[in-house]
Amino acid sequence: MTLPEGVERREVDGDEGLATRGEPVYGEPTEDGWRRWDRSRSKLAVLLGREVETGLTADSTVLYLGAASGTTVSHVADVAGPTYAVEFAPRPMRDLVGVAEARPNLFPLLKDARKPEHYAHVVEPVDLIVQDVAIRGQGEVAVANKQFLRDGGRLVLAIKARSEDVTRDPDEVFDDVLDTVEAEYEIRYTDGLEPFHEDHLGVVAEPK
Ligand code: SAM
Repeated sequence: MTLPEGVERREVDGDEGLATRGEPVYGEPTEDGWRRWDRSRSKLAVLLGREVETGLTADSTVLYLGAASGTTVSHVADVAGPTYAVEFAPRPMRDLVGVAEARPNLFPLLKDARKPEHYAHVVEPVDLIVQDVAIRGQGEVAVANKQFLRDGGRLVLAIKARSEDVTRDPDEVFDDVLDTVEAEYEIRYTDGLEPFHEDHLGVVAEPK
């Protein structure tokens, strides 16, 4: 397996890691137009660093759920085609709109990922859904948004156990969320995102 076109493993400012080409967003080091994609700030970067087949390519149309201020989705938009970025909190959305100014393929949407009917008229069918919402009901969000995925597309999901229930064993929480996701998706990959993101499970799935 290899990295997607547009993502390289290279030395930026003296440290080797993943990098994409684009305007810097979160104070990350840059060199010769490349910006480091920080694994400790991005669950997707952890998976790409492991060369997991995420389905991210230069041709992908992407729906990103839980875009926050644009840390990860900015790298996605550096690489991919049209990238729809859903975020429901107004404060990070203000930053995200600024991030999109330098990226004409990045479309911020101030919407609730639990209510896809509120953006279904805007979002075209996509090749990849990236979900990192960190709220209770992460499995239900993945199921509700499956309608946007083309056949053969992928879901890349970061499950945060503590967002479902701080008191439960994370492995039990992951099993419950995966049970929900499995109603609509075939699970292709699961693994913990430690040491970069504690009590998070990285998941790659395909629509049934
Ligand atoms: N994915 C981001 C990154 O790597 O740069 C970090 C995302 S942060 C862990 C989770 C984000 O999901 C927060 O900004 C939160 O406001 C957003 N969020 C939570 N529930 C949401 C929902 N139902 N709809 C849209 N955004 C949501």
